[in-house]
Amino acid sequence: MSSYPLLFQPLDLGFTQLKNRVLMGSMHTGLEEAENGFERAAAYYGARARGGVGLIVTGGIMPNPESGSLGMTHSLETPEMEANHRLITDAVHKERGKICMQILHEGRYAFNPKCVAPSPIAAPISPYTPEELTHEGVLGEIDNFIKAAAFAKRAGYDGVEVMGSEGYFINEFLAPRTNHRTDQWGGSLENRMRLPVSVVEGIRENVGEEFIIIYRLSMLDLVEDGSPFSEVLVVGKAIEKAGANIINTGIGWHEARIPTIATSVPRSAFTWVSAKFKAQASIPVITSNRINSPEEAERVLNRGDADMISMARPFLADPEFVNKAEEERADEINTCIGCNQACLDHLFEGKEASCLVNPWACRETEHIKTLAICDADKALNVAVVGAGPAGLSFATEAASRGHKVTLFDSADKIGGQFNIAKQIPGKEEFYETLRYFKRQLELTGVELNLGQRVSSEQLNQGGFDHVVLATGVVPRALNITGSDHPKVLSYLDVLRDKKPVGKKVAIIGAGGIGFDVAEYLLHDNKPEGNGEETPEQRSIDEFTASWGIDKELEHPGSLTGKGKPQHPADRELFLLQRKAGKVGADLGKTTGWIHRTELHRHGVKMMNGCEYLSINDGGLQLRNGEVESLLEVDTIVICAGQEPLQELTNDLSVPHTLIGGADIAAGLDAKRAIAQGAELAASL
Ligand code: FAD
Ligand code: NAP
Ligand code: SF4
Repeated sequence: MSSYPLLFQPLDLGFTQLKNRVLMGSMHTGLEEAENGFERAAAYYGARARGGVGLIVTGGIMPNPESGSLGMTHSLETPEMEANHRLITDAVHKERGKICMQILHEGRYAFNPKCVAPSPIAAPISPYTPEELTHEGVLGEIDNFIKAAAFAKRAGYDGVEVMGSEGYFINEFLAPRTNHRTDQWGGSLENRMRLPVSVVEGIRENVGEEFIIIYRLSMLDLVEDGSPFSEVLVVGKAIEKAGANIINTGIGWHEARIPTIATSVPRSAFTWVSAKFKAQASIPVITSNRINSPEEAERVLNRGDADMISMARPFLADPEFVNKAEEERADEINTCIGCNQACLDHLFEGKEASCLVNPWACRETEHIKTLAICDADKALNVAVVGAGPAGLSFATEAASRGHKVTLFDSADKIGGQFNIAKQIPGKEEFYETLRYFKRQLELTGVELNLGQRVSSEQLNQGGFDHVVLATGVVPRALNITGSDHPKVLSYLDVLRDKKPVGKKVAIIGAGGIGFDVAEYLLHDNKPEGNGEETPEQRSIDEFTASWGIDKELEHPGSLTGKGKPQHPADRELFLLQRKAGKVGADLGKTTGWIHRTELHRHGVKMMNGCEYLSINDGGLQLRNGEVESLLEVDTIVICAGQEPLQELTNDLSVPHTLIGGADIAAGLDAKRAIAQGAELAASL
């Protein structure tokens, strides 16, 4: 019997059947706007269909120019665009998959001076004040949704998803926060929901009965003056009646100041609200957010929280997710760790999406060319020194291509710095990447030698054709008077070696590691805080209480207004940087605000423009502008970046390549380390 009997039960929609309960949720990847973008998108979606997903939803497609951000694809009427979309639908159908086109009108979120909305109220995350639509304008927008759905049908899609959540156009009509109209489109709930209901009714009338309509309903707005859940239920009922086949769950507006998908959000943190909705619904309900394993998905279905599971980023991380689960190979799944570093952060930086743990995501056409197994006579005998992310990525990819790979690490386990990162509260998902690589090493036949600090002499005499040095980094020391004082610790002393830390602490360096050390020191008084929690153990109740999410669903927008840390710190922390400007400004675009908010909420004092003068028995002497002062602290933790560890290059006579931190330490992260390893292996 399958380990996931509910996940692999077909879902019957009457006129069509979905082969399992897995929906690949909508994600904008930037591919459609790229050169040869539709060919690449077809390969991308085709790979996910081949990987077994029951139903795919495309990234948002704009119904008209004013509905999307500048530079986004919107012209649906041309024969060329229909042919482009045909590439996608054909690729998915060839793999016996099904795909719906998401219709996304961004409303006031459109990064576009011509954006439109129910009322002229700018979003806090946008510089543009939208134009208030006239009555005729509203009718025109509804018509555009209907035309987009008709286009989707012509282009071969199996259905559409109407994006009605996340604070976009449709959602803006529903919530008093953004709808101040006094005509028939504003005021009473009946008026505010007239637009979404008209959109779904109009689409159904136009496309007929045998075409899937998914409606993404905002179940928790998580903003002030958002919809109360009592209204969400009424809207959901009306949408059902208007002709939707499936209701999908949307959580949180983009402007909400509550994390909804970051790695610090516990797994399945929001399925309870889908369950409350499902209890009243008569059509299938999909739940979503931070579900990233088949076990978790099965648990959610088993609780009866939903009829189907939406996962989006997990399909960037592993297109084969569903097949691996079905074939009882779940331990081979490359799990999405919720970091956002290569997917959402890329999009916010104007780059194409990819994935930290799977650098080939959205590069499928390129990867196909590199996948080929090399000819036996070209197979190399390669030594890899360092089993951190860079070395693991190279070793497994090179071995899967037929090269003979021997991997060395001086530590007694694989993972390098990931073994330290995974202990940070909210980063427990990093365990999964190590589990994945451990299994890949077994599957690809890499010879693993742990507990061996190799020397260049050993490498020279080992008969290797090539050596890959993935030896990582060493923490940068601080060069000031007193930096050898017993009060001074490196981040490795704290995180790896668990040296005692005082109650009043200065952290020097406010990069990713400085923030993580602060987070760790704030939480190491938690009862279960042994740094070894697995993702499943994290408490959803603690999370919702901490961020003021109203699980009783009584307040508008489902906010209690009473969020506060559940485990107040018993330490006073100072987080310092030399630069002027916001502390932590260089953290991830979509997650940095969460880290900054967390530390602020715990009372961490952040100081910029610091000049470190000396360390003595009293603490840290520093200058800030004209003012010199003594920061009276018990411990000073140095998180001042790293230097590459390249000692083996000195006497190495075998051809060699440096990757990861050993190559360049500045600006290093796991995204670069893993991508560099994979790309080098593909080039052999
Ligand atoms: P490393 O991970 O440092 O691995 C190098 C390996 O080489 C080590 O295992 C070492 O034992 C081995 N080695 C060295 N010399 C020898 C030798 N002579 N013989 C044998 N073995 C040797 N990155 C992110 O992208 N996102 C994050 O959220 C994130 N969080 C982090 C949090 C913390 C607390 C830390 C410390 C790091 C974090 N990072 C994060 C950074 C990320 O872990 C590194 O960028 C990544 O590990 C670098 O990979 P690497 O393979 O180059 O080096
Ligand atoms: P980092 O991000 O480069 O930060 C180093 C910090 O030290 C900076 O605040 C820098 O700012 C300061 N610094 C640099 N040289 C210094 C010196 N000589 N004296 C005093 N201060 C100095 O490096 P990191 O924090 O060590 O992180 C390493 C890598 O891991 C980063 O590239 C990061 O991307 C990755 N990481 C990512 C995350 C994540 O959440 N995405 C988390 C952890 C780590 P000033 O010069 O202004 O003082
Ligand atoms: Fe998941 Fe991170 Fe990959 Fe995005 S980059 S899909 S969050 S693992």
